[in-house]
Amino acid sequence: MAIWTVCEARGSAFRATTYELLSRARQVAAAAGIDSVAVVMGADTALADQLNGQAQQVLCLQGSHLVGGDAGVWSAALASACKPAPPRLVLFADSDRSREVAPALAARLGYAALANGTGLDWDADQFVLTRPVYGGKAYASYGTGDAGCVAVFRPNSFSTEPGDVATTQVRTVAVDPAPSRVRVEALQPRAGGQVPLGEAQVVVCGGRGMKAAENLALLGELAKVLDGAVGVSRAVVDAGWAEHSAQVGKSGKTVSPGLYIVAGVSGAVHHTMGMDTAKVVVAINTDPNAPIFRYADYGVVGNALEVLPALTAALAAQG
Ligand SMILES: Cc1cc2nc3c(=O)[nH]c(=O)nc-3n(C[C@H](O)[C@H](O)[C@H](O)COP(=O)(O)OP(=O)(O)OC[C@H]3O[C@@H](n4cnc5c(N)ncnc54)[C@H](O)[C@@H]3O)c2cc1C
Repeated sequence: MAIWTVCEARGSAFRATTYELLSRARQVAAAAGIDSVAVVMGADTALADQLNGQAQQVLCLQGSHLVGGDAGVWSAALASACKPAPPRLVLFADSDRSREVAPALAARLGYAALANGTGLDWDADQFVLTRPVYGGKAYASYGTGDAGCVAVFRPNSFSTEPGDVATTQVRTVAVDPAPSRVRVEALQPRAGGQVPLGEAQVVVCGGRGMKAAENLALLGELAKVLDGAVGVSRAVVDAGWAEHSAQVGKSGKTVSPGLYIVAGVSGAVHHTMGMDTAKVVVAINTDPNAPIFRYADYGVVGNALEVLPALTAALAAQG
């Protein structure tokens, strides 16, 4: 009986969101009186060492077919590692890979599956998981009862606390899933070293109101000053001005930044579903009745092509 957190690495370090999820797992596991276990795919001891203090145990799953991250192989490996002492919860931070692995693992274990989670608590002797529903208009909380659950959480849902577990036990567990039927030819990091959109603390997002592809540079310039990432609405992607990987919304990425600056976006529900857990929203729109202002903490009625450069210049001047 434990809470497992599957820790996804990017190169030689874990994603920032790994640490926030481990922080919450520690707190909730302590409330439930059980251990928190960090699970690393691959027996990389240098990586495992980075998790010192983050969980009572670190499990490194070792198997020849784990490299490449095929979802079928990962879910089989995790399911076999779970067998001796099935965990109550298996937690993942949202990513393209975890969206594939988590439901497959839930099916193998016969557990419930929850996507898009934003809250995790221990209440009245059960785990309670929360996620937005009805396009972000409401939150639903689900009690696990005695059942196991595999859950995927939005980045930036929890605060990251310093690792405070005194004794971390690192164990390597050999797993031997069948080889992948998918052959990964190469894994290439995204060019430009931009902050990943889904995990960014600041997102500057532009919509059709940016008028032309070349104007999207204004979003990038503001994002650079704020060390943030650039997002766009679907209208921008449909117009061919930006890649789908930058799209925020129902059929794009879900973001949950501390600050969401949104310019020239009307605020259709399909868009707001992807950003409704942003902490502070600043909207820039020429139309004072644009629905996006309903989501905004601060609103600027004005031309994005003028307001964005002015904002960038003012922030850059502050250093
Ligand atoms: C199944 C489905 C899935 C979808 N998924 C997504 C999704 O993932 N993400 C998404 O974004 N949409 C999605 N959509 C589309 C969504 O419904 C909207 O059509 C889209 O979000 C509109 O994009 P927009 O706000 O950029 O453009 P518009 O709705 O055209 O709004 C442009 C806004 O810019 C303002 N504006 C104009 N000029 C300026 C200026 N100079 N300065 C400032 N403001 C200006 C206008 O007042 C207007 O409010 C989906 C739709 C469907 C049916």
